Amino acid sequence: MKDAIIKALREKISRQRWEHWFSDFSVKKIDGNHVVFEVGNIFVKDHLEKEFGKVISKVVREILGKNSTFEIVYAEVNTSHQNSFKDEGALIRKRPLLLTPLNNKYTFENMVVGDFNRFAYNVFLEASKKPGFYNPIFLYSDVGLGKTHLAQALANYVLETDPDMKVAYLTSEEFMNEMITAIKAGNTEEFREKYRKKADILIIDDIQFLIGKPGAQIELFHTFNAVHEAGKQIIICSDRPPQELKDFHSRMVSRFQMGIVVKIEKPSKDALIKIARKIMEVKGGEINDEILLYVVDIFDSPRLLQGAILKLIAYKNLFGELNMEIARSLLPSVSSKNTDNDKLLEIVSEMFDCNKEDILSKKRLKNISFARKIGMYYAHKYLGMSTREIGRLFNKTHSSVVQNIRQIEESLKQGNLAIKSYLKRLNKSIKGFAEGG
Ligand code: ADP
Ligand code: MG
Repeated sequence: MKDAIIKALREKISRQRWEHWFSDFSVKKIDGNHVVFEVGNIFVKDHLEKEFGKVISKVVREILGKNSTFEIVYAEVNTSHQNSFKDEGALIRKRPLLLTPLNNKYTFENMVVGDFNRFAYNVFLEASKKPGFYNPIFLYSDVGLGKTHLAQALANYVLETDPDMKVAYLTSEEFMNEMITAIKAGNTEEFREKYRKKADILIIDDIQFLIGKPGAQIELFHTFNAVHEAGKQIIICSDRPPQELKDFHSRMVSRFQMGIVVKIEKPSKDALIKIARKIMEVKGGEINDEILLYVVDIFDSPRLLQGAILKLIAYKNLFGELNMEIARSLLPSVSSKNTDNDKLLEIVSEMFDCNKEDILSKKRLKNISFARKIGMYYAHKYLGMSTREIGRLFNKTHSSVVQNIRQIEESLKQGNLAIKSYLKRLNKSIKGFAEGG
């Protein structure tokens, strides 16, 4: 019976239109004289109902009898996006334009505000109450500082307060992929309408992905213009300012700058601590202050911070305990940006006739432990490193760093000239290193 329906329908529709519109059309089930058809996409469903409703109805009645009815449903495609849609079923059904599931933890309340992001935060908060007021909003920052969180906070807020708003949040990569799929399937009109005509708020995340992709840039440009001209809110997130989107057409760059351009800076240590606490609150979990300070010292972006905290919490939940030693072993020891600090290790090890690995090891040979002490003292007094940072650099516990530094201080107080001269030599080598590149 299912085949007969499809076959009859096929005969009534031109080949070209069939291939465009019915490529994933199937009979899902027949309940008495009610037929349920299934397609893979809500926009195809809308279109089929509108354009082909009559002919489908005719065929169904021809085959199943005069009072037969039909409906078209769209299948949930099996992608991770669609799976997470399920959690928020009601929400999504009301808002088919929510193309990427929003993370419901990404709210204004769950965001720590500090000098680093206050301006951006306020712009987004205001825009969520008055969409279109700042238009477009171009938000940029280094990776992991909260762009996606902020953009989705706006989307969540708008949907919460005005469920009829249609919010399209997607990355530029998703935009491009969808465009390509539409071109292949011959549905470009649908694709264009979807964003150009149906979105009240269009958020395009990670625009920098389109660098080197002129076709998608042009398509986005047209979408941008249409949405903007209609007075609908556009938000663009980027890892760099508009003028650094190299190879984007200057017309497009100036469009991006037409509204308001906002930046999130790097959070201060204080702000990072607050963010860390917020993350623990949102995710549920605790790590003690000593470990927390250690983590904040290593990871200077909220994203990295979050990754580290979740890892530690997961460990704690699994094994029931977490101490400094374990935390240290779970997290990467030396942050990659400290190449200069690496040089310090090289130079002290050379001075005391050992190698870097010896210094990082637990070996207690006299020259090695002396090299460590001098290096630690130097790092603290001359390079301004915190004792925690030094612990990481030398792969030693915080308390052993403090103790080593104190010993050198003590010796200096007692007038130890040898140490003085070592420090001088060290200073000279490091300066030379720096000046020589
Ligand atoms: P970006 O999009 O800029 O790369 P994200 O928005 O993905 O950064 O943020 C990375 C992670 O850090 C997210 O889990 C986010 O919730 C968290 N985060 C970022 N900024 C803050 C903040 N100010 N307060 C609390 N959490 C934050
Ligand atoms: Mg992001």
